[in-house]
Amino acid sequence: MTGRQIIAAASVTLALGLSAQSQGKPDYLIKPVAFTAVHLTDDFWAPRIEINRTSSIPSAFLQCELTGRVALFDRAAAVLRGDGTVDKRPPGYPFDETDLYKVIEGAAYSLSVTADPKLDAYVDGLIAKIAAAQEPDGYLYTTRTIDPKSPHRWAGTERWVLERDDSHELYNLGHLFEAAVAHHLATGKRTLLDVAIKAADLLVNTFGPGKRTTWPGHQITEMALVKLYRVTGQQAYLDLARFLLDERGPGPLPPGERVNPRGLNYNQAHLKVIEQSEPVGHAVRAVYMYSGMADVAAVTGDQAMRAAGKRIWDYLITSKLYLTGGIGASGSGEAFGQPYELPNMTAYNETCASVGMDFWNHRLFLLEGDAKYLDVMERTLYNGLLSGVSLDGKTFFYPNPLESNGQHARQEWFGVACCPGNITRFMPSVPGYFYATRGDAVFVNLFARGSATIDLPGGPVTIDQDTRYPWDGVVKMTITPQRARRFAVNVRIPGWAREQPVPSNLYVYTDEISVPPPSLRVNGSPVPMTQVNGFATVDRTWTAGDVLTLDLSMPVRRVASNPQVMANRDRVALQRGPIVFAAEWPDNPNGKVRNIVLPSGEPLGSEFRPDLLNGVQVITGRAVGLAFDAKGAVQRTAQPFMAIPYAVWANRGRGQMAVWLARTDAAARPTPFPTVVTTATIAASLPPGGRGKNARNIIDGEEPASSADSTAYFDWWPVQGSDNEWIQLTFAKPSTISTSEIYWFDDTGRGGVRVPASWRLLYKSGTNWVTVDTRDAYGVARNAWNAVTFTPVTTTALRIELGMQQGFSAGLQEWKVK
Ligand SMILES: [Zn+2]
Repeated sequence: MTGRQIIAAASVTLALGLSAQSQGKPDYLIKPVAFTAVHLTDDFWAPRIEINRTSSIPSAFLQCELTGRVALFDRAAAVLRGDGTVDKRPPGYPFDETDLYKVIEGAAYSLSVTADPKLDAYVDGLIAKIAAAQEPDGYLYTTRTIDPKSPHRWAGTERWVLERDDSHELYNLGHLFEAAVAHHLATGKRTLLDVAIKAADLLVNTFGPGKRTTWPGHQITEMALVKLYRVTGQQAYLDLARFLLDERGPGPLPPGERVNPRGLNYNQAHLKVIEQSEPVGHAVRAVYMYSGMADVAAVTGDQAMRAAGKRIWDYLITSKLYLTGGIGASGSGEAFGQPYELPNMTAYNETCASVGMDFWNHRLFLLEGDAKYLDVMERTLYNGLLSGVSLDGKTFFYPNPLESNGQHARQEWFGVACCPGNITRFMPSVPGYFYATRGDAVFVNLFARGSATIDLPGGPVTIDQDTRYPWDGVVKMTITPQRARRFAVNVRIPGWAREQPVPSNLYVYTDEISVPPPSLRVNGSPVPMTQVNGFATVDRTWTAGDVLTLDLSMPVRRVASNPQVMANRDRVALQRGPIVFAAEWPDNPNGKVRNIVLPSGEPLGSEFRPDLLNGVQVITGRAVGLAFDAKGAVQRTAQPFMAIPYAVWANRGRGQMAVWLARTDAAARPTPFPTVVTTATIAASLPPGGRGKNARNIIDGEEPASSADSTAYFDWWPVQGSDNEWIQLTFAKPSTISTSEIYWFDDTGRGGVRVPASWRLLYKSGTNWVTVDTRDAYGVARNAWNAVTFTPVTTTALRIELGMQQGFSAGLQEWKVK
């Protein structure tokens, strides 16, 4: 094939793997328009997609090389060749190889839009390494191939036996299939596709009715098999995808197999998938599974599976969705929390979960034809997903919190590096979410300047969008059919421009401003705005050059959350168009934002700042800043206020950020007046892997809610039962002190940290540590301050030495010294 033919062949929807093979067979009623047919020229997405191509993809490949992920395939291939000298150490995690698959997928998407012979050749080289690491029968899992006798402890000594726990054998192949389909459709080459088919055939021969059973411990294989089915036409792959979904659930296990010790909720096996209603467990696993369910429902017409997906979605958007579109409130198990449990500073909101949210919501739209799924997709896309990557494309967030005291920063790479790879594969496919078709009708789902060529049964149509969206709500669409003819254009009227920010009562607009309703004009003349499923349909005879103009007002809106969300009580968030805003430290007085009170009714303005953060709209106004004085009294100061789009926070260094701002003085968190403690430096004996534990949390001057409060603490986990740990303050200057108060961290019921078995207090005298002179008991009360008063000393440092309870770790919430 020529390059142009390849592009044409790829002009089916890569994101779903739709291809000629699947034409004429049952599938989604609505078909997305491939990103290869949509060329964005806007100032919002186009630069981010280009940065992904020129920066994120090369740096992710480099990290895969530097961290030995590429070498895993070389080592496995050497073992298969009979080389006895191979380094047999297992990878850090058995799923490390998927990071390479994901970046190959991203590179393939990128290649299908922008020719890059050097990248193409590099990917060919990687594919040769992957192919060489595949065992003769199709098994591909370097963890075991490198050392079949003692693979990684998660992998078990036999194939598949720990799949339902943590081996990730099927997960790895799922990412292989996704990469292979993308590479084939993008380049026309079969190299990686043939590796995938060989592996998929092994799965088909191994699993199924009358054969072995299992369900993937980490989902993705299900949706990946549907892609492989679409590209190859092999019914067996679709049947296996359905089998893996149907088999999931509680029940007896074959001898030697086990489930994840975190429990069946963790990987959504607590119920049969068609019986599920509440999103639970590991959020990324969940949304990958729901995406697979939508695919299987679309292709097989399975109504029970379709209904389950809709139930789960309703539950999610009613009680478990962040305003930013992120999901997965809890870092413990990277999981959904309880309904309405949506803490801000500790919000987990893994970047991968946002990517999965958009996979799933897009599929639900294609299945159901309702724009409410696109409303959620857009919310995640512009906010909680895009926040996952820095403006320069070089650093990534794993969790995406909605509040920070300066403890958060994006990183280049992670031990578990799922998120960077997911960003690299998602970004090039963004234009593929903009349009769709059903029969001879077009859906305009998202808005950005650019041009799309859309194939309809009645002939191709070009749509040119001219707009400054998301900064402005006027969208001018020039519609150019090949010849004048009648067809329908369905324009999404975004949910944020209708009554509520989300299609539930989880978040509501609270301001009393009157907003002009959305309007549509054709060649300047108003057309009726009858809306069905969130779309306004303009069904008419279109002539080349007709202009359809959508006009959406974009005032700054105040958003309140359902009062059942404790974390947002007496707080307000700001939204304008699809963009959720955050106040960040560089833009507000004294570098603080958690002390800001934004009173209701205070007018807020908005302006575009081309000089800031590559050009963003900002919100400005007046607020009140709270500060403690030396006597501990709160001072109120009128001050200017500014907020930036949430997605671009943390591009200017570490500091405070908040999406949910205080509406009342009581909800604000003014920084404590500097004390001997808050100006001290802190150090601790650190556990192995304790890098990144932020001990400063315990001298931030903030009152813990309880010993179990997970907002800002320090612990020695995973160290347990140790009798010689320490933590110490070094004061800015010699200080005279006589009281220490400690609030212990203890997560009984949730984790393995308890108040210590014993402890004592020492101060620095010259170069020696001397126990303080006290008659007080060294208290270990939970949910209380434990004060020790001692004979005053003038010293430069104070230290706690502690012994843990047997079998438990220890930690502190807060430490005060006077
Ligand atoms: Zn991730």
